[in-house]
Amino acid sequence: MFLAPVAAIAAAAVAVGPAFASTPASAPARTADNGNSTGVDGEANAPAKRSLRSAWVGTRTGAMVKSPAWVGSARLNAGWAYGNGGAHRAWDVGLWLGTPVHSPRNGVVIGLNDGVANNRPGYNPGSNASSNWVLVCHTVKGRQVSTYWQHLSPGIKVTVGQRVSGPRMGSNGRPIPGTGTQLGLSGNTGNSTGPHLHLASFKGCASASVAGNNSTAAWTRYNYLNRPETLFYEPSRVWNRPTIDARSLIATTRKSGRSGEVVKFRKAVLAKSRSARAGSGFRKLVRQAKRTYGWHNHGGLPNRGFLKKLAWRTENLGVR
Ligand SMILES: [Zn+2]
Repeated sequence: MFLAPVAAIAAAAVAVGPAFASTPASAPARTADNGNSTGVDGEANAPAKRSLRSAWVGTRTGAMVKSPAWVGSARLNAGWAYGNGGAHRAWDVGLWLGTPVHSPRNGVVIGLNDGVANNRPGYNPGSNASSNWVLVCHTVKGRQVSTYWQHLSPGIKVTVGQRVSGPRMGSNGRPIPGTGTQLGLSGNTGNSTGPHLHLASFKGCASASVAGNNSTAAWTRYNYLNRPETLFYEPSRVWNRPTIDARSLIATTRKSGRSGEVVKFRKAVLAKSRSARAGSGFRKLVRQAKRTYGWHNHGGLPNRGFLKKLAWRTENLGVR
């Protein structure tokens, strides 16, 4: 695995996702269109087991959700639990068939499956049906986290082993949706009752191997259900994180080397370089930064290439 180990950083404030408060269980409103406002996994129709009827946590079903992974807001057709109370522990996002889906954070593609045609409207081929999916490994606060993007249309846009980028940052410091590397188009493949995106996140990453449903990475796709200790819920935790854009950082640096953003960035990088968990590669980079750009000299101007390189090693800073 070529991902550099990264240490946890307590520096920048983290934008947190929706609170993990319990919300009253209520079945999603169902309409007859079988469209993106109702599409969920086929399991949603399986009989609920009492043991799986956990309290509903996170964003409630029916809420509109946003992400850098898609443009605009979409209906959450199922969240922590299905309408029947069965464990879901993922998001079923009501995206129209063919909606571009982008990586919400830097990462590496560790698995995928492609070539399955979208289901005919109203027809679900069942729980053994193959789907198109992508599995991406990210580093979130120094910890490896996998994201699983399922039911995609045929025509995956990435390859196994490919590095993917998160979104560009707007001038307001917020990520611009739809500007990260495109993974594919949302769809309705596999065990699915209608067009939707199934998005799960869990701790740990398999190593990238080969495409297809029979790979080391593919076998980890349901860790979030089978191994509760790997739960990393909700998926929004992957993109709700400190964000510093290299381009805007440089622009700010040109104006004033003492600006808040630059000072925050320096503090975080220096704290990380002192951490026991910082890799030798990272320490080398920081030494190079100090030498080349004069980190002790507020007039120093790190260039974009350097910051991008640094970004891969400080991903938990959200540097792009
Ligand atoms: Zn789902």
